[in-house]
Amino acid sequence: MTELDETTLVFVAHLDLELEKLTGRSADRTKVLDDISLQLLEGETLGIIGESGSGKSVLLKAIAGLVPVNSGAVYFETPPESMYKAVKLEKEYIQGAKTGQGAIPQAGEIISPDLSELRKRFSLIGKSLRKTRKSRKEIYFVFQGSRTAIDPKKTVWDTIAESFKRGTDLNRSEIDNRIKEVAEAAGLRETDLQKYPNDMNVEELQIVNIARALAVEPKLAIMDEPTSDMDISAKAQILNTLRDYQYSRGMSYIVASNDLNVIRVLSDRVAVMYLGKVVEYSTLSNIYSGMLHPYTKMLISNSITLENGQGLIDGQIGDRSPVIPSIPAGCAFHTRCPVAFKNCGWTAAEIAPLIREIMILNKNTDLSNFPPYHEIIPDLGANSLKITFEGGTHISYEFVGELNRLIEARVLLEGGIPLQAVESVAVSPGGDFVTIQLLKPRVPRLMEVKPGHFASCFQYGGLEDYPEKEPEEPKAKTNEEAA
Ligand code: SF4
Repeated sequence: MTELDETTLVFVAHLDLELEKLTGRSADRTKVLDDISLQLLEGETLGIIGESGSGKSVLLKAIAGLVPVNSGAVYFETPPESMYKAVKLEKEYIQGAKTGQGAIPQAGEIISPDLSELRKRFSLIGKSLRKTRKSRKEIYFVFQGSRTAIDPKKTVWDTIAESFKRGTDLNRSEIDNRIKEVAEAAGLRETDLQKYPNDMNVEELQIVNIARALAVEPKLAIMDEPTSDMDISAKAQILNTLRDYQYSRGMSYIVASNDLNVIRVLSDRVAVMYLGKVVEYSTLSNIYSGMLHPYTKMLISNSITLENGQGLIDGQIGDRSPVIPSIPAGCAFHTRCPVAFKNCGWTAAEIAPLIREIMILNKNTDLSNFPPYHEIIPDLGANSLKITFEGGTHISYEFVGELNRLIEARVLLEGGIPLQAVESVAVSPGGDFVTIQLLKPRVPRLMEVKPGHFASCFQYGGLEDYPEKEPEEPKAKTNEEAA
């Protein structure tokens, strides 16, 4: 993100990750992370929300260097002056080279030498563990699924003590005191410290998981669903402890959770993710009381009406959540957005069933003078539909006019929004087929709508990046014209 603040601890810039990197299959070109930029200030918590499949967990792992990425940068503990410069140049990079192109770098987009140098010197991405060991020692990752994250052969005491093997200045008795202190703060009893994981339930193990992160007091703790297995009282205690440690030790957190209460209690800033993209980012109060993006509105308003009052969002909203690897073109949220409009990214594949419906519905009425259609063929590259007819009949301009009228009539009906994306209906020169041309899918980019409040939605601008028509190439003059 783009706050120029000298207390920035982590700056994530333009992270891109294609599924191929995770699966090893070259056909998996879907973006799991798509141009993610985020900022975490020292002593603050960045909360990340979004449904399952939004990319929250992968993003956390990418920041921690636990999964590879295709491109981008993660600046951590960068000297203030260089961090300031990196934030500024990374911001210019998105506003310049990437503007209007969505997340995919286009041919000819070149990172400036200054930015390239900054990435080379300070970004953790692409560097070996050996080279980044010192920085990574200050990052602690708390995994989701505590039972698998804890060695079953070690007692709780040994499990927590093991965290110090990453390197510490403390002596043996200081470590012992630290373990007792953190265990008590997290809500573990003294007797728990001698237990083995198999003697504990998942809630207790999750507490151990967090306690061992807090014990070493890293500068940054990255936590994936830290309280998902806890009951309300254990959760309250651990959230208090996390806050206490943050205030007293100056720790910073990045937390992903489906539990909006956890996000509300811990976060200073919140990023909302949808299908691999950050669609809104701002302070906690802006997100909760001044949310901009239709997805955020859906997410938060649905969560607070849930019966159990827990504010859980996982899989709770709508039933049309597309699952990676099929990310809709244009604004990925357009298939569920209650306020989507014609420019939001409708594709030929999405519109084909509606056109088919029109053709069938009107087969015996308005279009009865015309031959029945044979096929409706979407051309995904050109974002158009070709309608062919039975019997090779010649199609007249009257038919095209009638079809246009029917499309316009259905634009006003429920479900008619996609039809607004129809740009033109034309008959082929030979009169043997009709082409329905749709608007080109466009990708909204994350923009600073208000100071410190970012959203990616065409309601707040960005369409101006896309001219209504592609500029036409100037035609070469004929010999006669030249003369
Ligand atoms: S750009 Fe905005 S209005 Fe359009 S579909 Fe996306 S979220 Fe909805």
